[in-house]
Amino acid sequence: MKYFLIALIPIVAAVIIVILAKRTASHTFKCKHCSEEFNIKWSKAVATEHSGNEYMLICPYCQTKDWCTQQLDK
Ligand SMILES: [Zn+2]
Repeated sequence: MKYFLIALIPIVAAVIIVILAKRTASHTFKCKHCSEEFNIKWSKAVATEHSGNEYMLICPYCQTKDWCTQQLDK
């Protein structure tokens, strides 16, 4: 039973990460260079460097890699 619980921890952690990433990906991101808004896949949200509402993303419109702001009001 003890080992079962230890094995459960990374599974629960992975599920939480996926839920949070899907929530992040459900928002749009705004490029500071061309002001276009775009969506990202949840799998990309997991791997993307971020600080608060700012995510380091490559804009699909102008191909600029920079901090993009997560739009929380949508
Ligand atoms: Zn852009």
